[in-house]
Amino acid sequence: MKKQTMFNGNHLEKANFRALIESEGTARIEERMKLLDVFLSTEAHITLDELVGLARARGLRVTPEFVKQCMNRMVDLGFAQKKQFHDQPVRYEHRHLGKHHDHLICTKCGKILEFADEEIERLQRKVAARYGFYMLQHRMDIYGLCSECTAKRRPLMPLAMAKPGETVVVREIGGGRAGRARLAAMGLRPGEVVEVITNSGRGRLILGHGYSRLALGRGAANKTMVSLADKSRGG
Ligand SMILES: [Zn+2]
Ligand SMILES: [Zn+2]
Ligand SMILES: [Zn+2]
Repeated sequence: MKKQTMFNGNHLEKANFRALIESEGTARIEERMKLLDVFLSTEAHITLDELVGLARARGLRVTPEFVKQCMNRMVDLGFAQKKQFHDQPVRYEHRHLGKHHDHLICTKCGKILEFADEEIERLQRKVAARYGFYMLQHRMDIYGLCSECTAKRRPLMPLAMAKPGETVVVREIGGGRAGRARLAAMGLRPGEVVEVITNSGRGRLILGHGYSRLALGRGAANKTMVSLADKSRGG
């Protein structure tokens, strides 16, 4: 996201918010404006506790009750939206008019990733229309493991260490450009799945790849990093 447009966007949001709360005759307007500023300064999906912490770190002397009441008002006025993922605490995120995104939530480390995909949006409208359903809103939350957590769960090892019968995913190919080209010529590229047929600890390895069997030298097998494939996903 471009810094400049973010700034201008926030600038407008602030003026807009001030006008609305002033028209309501709300008390403690300057504190609310400062809290909005704190909230807009983070792109995180933030919990109430985290927001209170952040506000206090910026020198705002606020109680959790005030912050909660203030956030609920921001939600009502269309500046924030509440999200609750699974059994996690309620989180707040920005609500930018006309913009929509969906979420990927890592159940291991709690990371929340945002994505926007026009194809998914289009398909959802299509499904709703098929049922004669007028869609007002939707949530698309995908739960699972983020790439870092998946990598931690499946440590890399040299292909030369894989045991016969193991199915592995090629992750990295060493040996420079020439090494990669040689393996690519055999069809071995990162992401490819191979089954170790023979690996006696010395000499060549015999690998099953698709419908063919490949012989790979030990040197190349030492430079090829793999991780065990998840067989429950079919490879
Ligand atoms: Zn969506
Ligand atoms: Zn994670
Ligand atoms: Zn989000």
